Amino acid sequence: MSRTLVQVAAEAATCTRCRLSESRTQVVFGVGNPEADLMFIGEAPGFHEDRQGEPFVGAAGQLLTRMLGEIGLRREDVYIANVLRCRPPGNRDPLPDEIEACTPWLIETISIVQPSVIVTLGNFATKFVLNTQRGITSMRGGVYGWHGRKVVPTFHPAAILHGGGEKSRQFLDLQDDFALIRRTLSAVPEPPPPVAAPAEVSSAAAEDDQLELF
Ligand code: URA
Repeated sequence: MSRTLVQVAAEAATCTRCRLSESRTQVVFGVGNPEADLMFIGEAPGFHEDRQGEPFVGAAGQLLTRMLGEIGLRREDVYIANVLRCRPPGNRDPLPDEIEACTPWLIETISIVQPSVIVTLGNFATKFVLNTQRGITSMRGGVYGWHGRKVVPTFHPAAILHGGGEKSRQFLDLQDDFALIRRTLSAVPEPPPPVAAPAEVSSAAAEDDQLELF
């Protein structure tokens, strides 16, 4: 039987799979609607996220929340997570063995939430999820297929804040990308209504029918 996000997050809270467990304040697992159609993936928790235990609560998070509002969504409507669940000291880039150690948490999260659309925020998440060396500037503006769902890469909100803010060309691109996210989400067909399993079908057989990501 698949686990709930609460169960997975409880296990992750004591994770010691990599060195970041020694320097973190706490594991920042993810936040939002566990059945969201739309999931955001950032890079790693920063200072504020490490303190508060929630992704995207600092200045970059405020911009993300605002951009969600511009397409009629609230944080509670989506699911937000990062490639890494623990803050790298001094906000340095994640190291390959840290990513490898943390990947199972991300995969299990995606396989529980089952989002139709995933937004990768910035170079790091985009390269990781889409397994590409192409930078975010050339990837953004497109919609990519990935394990039966759609991936929409866009700039990391922190990059916008560090690169000229609302007056920058990138901010206009970010607005375009959020409009694309809205259109991509609206194009997702409604799931068919659930069909009750006939009494003679065993629960094991019913479970076999469930959609798994991997
Ligand atoms: N940047 C990220 O990539 N993730 C966060 O949670 C916060 C800032």
